[in-house]
This record gives sequence, structure tokens and C-alpha cells, in this order.
Amino acid sequence: MSNAPRSLQIEVTNRCNFDCVMCMRRTWRSEKYGLLDPKLFSKIVNEVSTALERLALYGFGEPLLHPDLPLFIKEYRRVFGDSTHILVVTNGSLATSELVEKLFSSGLNELVFSVDSGDLIKLSSIRVGSSQYPLLHNLAEAVKVARKRGGKVSVAAILMRENLRELLDLLNEVVKLGIDELTISHLITYTSTLADQTLYSLSSEYPVKLVEKIGLEEWEKISHYAFIEVLRRQSHLEPEIGWQAIYSKIYEEAIRRGYSLNTANIKYALERKTILEETSRTLAEARSRAIEMGLTINLPEVYADANRRSCPYIDGDYVYVRYDGLVAPCMDLAYEHPLFVNNHYKIIRRVIFGDLWRERLRDIWMKPKYITFRSIRREFSKNVPWCPDCNLSTLNCWYINENGFDCYGNEVGCSECVYSTGLAKCII
Ligand code: SF4
Ligand code: SF4
Ligand code: SF4
Repeated sequence: MSNAPRSLQIEVTNRCNFDCVMCMRRTWRSEKYGLLDPKLFSKIVNEVSTALERLALYGFGEPLLHPDLPLFIKEYRRVFGDSTHILVVTNGSLATSELVEKLFSSGLNELVFSVDSGDLIKLSSIRVGSSQYPLLHNLAEAVKVARKRGGKVSVAAILMRENLRELLDLLNEVVKLGIDELTISHLITYTSTLADQTLYSLSSEYPVKLVEKIGLEEWEKISHYAFIEVLRRQSHLEPEIGWQAIYSKIYEEAIRRGYSLNTANIKYALERKTILEETSRTLAEARSRAIEMGLTINLPEVYADANRRSCPYIDGDYVYVRYDGLVAPCMDLAYEHPLFVNNHYKIIRRVIFGDLWRERLRDIWMKPKYITFRSIRREFSKNVPWCPDCNLSTLNCWYINENGFDCYGNEVGCSECVYSTGLAKCII
């Protein structure tokens, strides 16, 4: 186990010049906003013992609003040289060629433009406050500067129902502009209003296909009669007629493969079969076009897979540092917020392991609670339950109202984290 973080994500500010409809910041009620103090940045640099693998200088907010961003990069480079990959994710509105030049000449490796659509008119309806900003111009200029400086410009986009059909146009646009890499992530919903925009199933594919093969109606009949049979047997009303045995055989087949059967969620996935299939086809087309055109592309799956979960922050020994110095294990746990996931609301309480104004980075990293947090999540699928495949998640399991615990006894429930499935992608 690493005795210091290998990578850091530092939120240089949580202020933003946009107010995007899908942004978590919209759900904040009493959070303070501010800029990372340069003294705190210097303290962090002093406390990093060896060069980091990666340094992501952004969080909730627009990092290019921080006037000292180029100086931060320069300062880090002066101490640790060139081996660390430094990246910044921006909404692109402030990425003038002058500023981009400053960032790359200070030692930035990668500037990621977070965009939502190839269509600028649609873009301005999703990104409130963004109308008419010269995204394409800024991107084209950034590519020129990056080429000159040996850096990289990438694009990250969120896939939603309303922009699914623009994905291939976005891909063409990105290739035309000479962008190096495109990452497509599914949408995380903080409120129910955007839930119908999602293009994925949180039910694992295996249980969905298993029930589809049996027939949903047939499976509901089997479940219903098996339940009645159990009740009758308990009341000695009539002899067993075999529904329970049929149910158990199917259920155990799923369990044997590491899944469970949540009928309500499977039904939901089957009802959305047409759009999920269209999403799969579009992603497959995007993948093959990207290969043809020589573009590096990262695409999400359409179904979660309970057996193939992992946490990108844990796997990369990453730490998230808020602008005010508070240390969280990941971006999602840095601030308290509601989440609409798996067809229900839950409160995500923030998880803070320390405060860099008062403690040293390494001491925070080595706190027993934080060590336990990380070691449980190293074998994620084994140690963390996946609620969307569990029937109880649609029957008011009390663990899922908040992220305090899960039914395995883990403190901090990551059992509905969409990032852990790879459906939503962290750019870190
Ligand atoms: S640009 Fe990013 S941080 Fe700013 S409102 Fe939009 S999603 Fe949120
Ligand atoms: S699984 Fe999700 S919520 Fe849990 S630490 Fe990782 S990113 Fe954060
Ligand atoms: S926390 Fe509740 S819903 Fe989630 S897997 Fe455990 S019992 Fe099922």
C-alpha cells in the first residue's frame, strides 16, 4: 500500500462563470465559494514527497477563473520537474490563446475542454450563461498552441438523450479540429428532472438478459407464485407446487455469477430497451469511426456490471483537495449534495479526512479511517454491494437514503456510485 498519494486533484476554485443544468453546484445551498490560496498551494507542494504521477488542477468550478493558475503549474514544475502529467479541465469560455499559451509554457501537459454538444445553439441551452462564447475558435487556437508547446488538447462530453444523435457530429468536429482525445461520459443526475436524459442501465446486463430470455411476464408470474407459495407453506395451507423451486433455480443462477435480480429495475431496463440499443449502436459506430480516423476515444458502456466495478480515485491513489484545503477521497464526496440515482433520491454526505491548513498531507493520507476506506475499495466488487441489482433497493432499504453505511457494514456507502461502474467518467 502506498504511504503517500500518487496523484492529486486540486480544486483551484469552486466558482464558475456558467450555471449548467446538470451541474452539482446547482444543488448547493450554503456552500461558500472561493479561490485556492497560493500559500496553501505552496504548502501542498512542500508536502508532496516525490513527484506525483498526475496533478489535476480543477474541481467544481472553472479553473481558468484563478489568476494564479499558470503560477501554480510553474511552481510545481520548478520543484518536481517534468515527470508529472498536469491537466486542467475547463469549460473553454476563458481559454483565450494568450492564457492557453501561458498555461502550456508554464508546464501544462493537457487542457481538456468539457463540452456537451457539437451544436453550439444546443450548447447554449444546456450551459446556461454560455451563449455565444467562441468555443470552436478557442479550441482551434488551443490546439495550435498545444502543438507548438508539445502539449495535448482533449475534449470531454456528457452523453444525454438530447445530444445522442449529435455524437457522431461531435466526433467529426473534434477530428477536424485536430483534438488528441475524446472522452464521453454518461450523465449523473442530481435531481429527477434530468433522469429521462440518461442513456444507461444501472441493472447489470446479465440479470436483464436472463429475465428477457425467460420473458418478463413469466418471471413476474414465477416471482409472484413463489412468494404466495412461501406464505401458504408457512401457514400450512396447501402442499408445495414447485414455484419456489423454479424461482430459486433462476435466482441462484444469477447469484452464482455474482449478480442479483431486481425485478423492478430489470423491467425498467427492458422498457428502455430501444433507447439503450440505439445508444449501444451509436457508441459502437463512434468507436469504429474514431479508430478509422486515428482519434483516441474513451467511451462508456451502456449497462453497469456489478462484477466489474472499481473506484478510479482509489486505484490511482488519488486525493481530492478542495479550494479551502479540506481533503476528500474523491470529487463526489467533497460536498454534500442530493443525488437522484437508481430511481430514488439520496443524500450524499461529504466525507472529509482532513484539513490541509492544519494538517500535513501525508498525515491525512495515513489516518487509520482513510486507510480502511481505501483498502476496502481496492477489491471493490467483492467488498461493496451494488444496490441497483438488489430487490431491496426498490423496497425502501434504509441504507440507500444516505451514503452513511451499506449493508456489508462499510462506513460510507459507495454502493450506488455511477463512477465505480465506469458509466460516468472522471477526468483525472
Ligand atoms: S462549467 Fe462545469 S463547473 Fe461550471 S456550471 Fe458548468 S458543469 Fe458546473
Ligand atoms: S466509489 Fe465513487 S463515491 Fe466511492 S470513493 Fe470512489 S468515486 Fe467516490
Ligand atoms: S444496501 Fe440495501 S439495497 Fe443495497 S445491496 Fe444492501 S440490502 Fe440491497
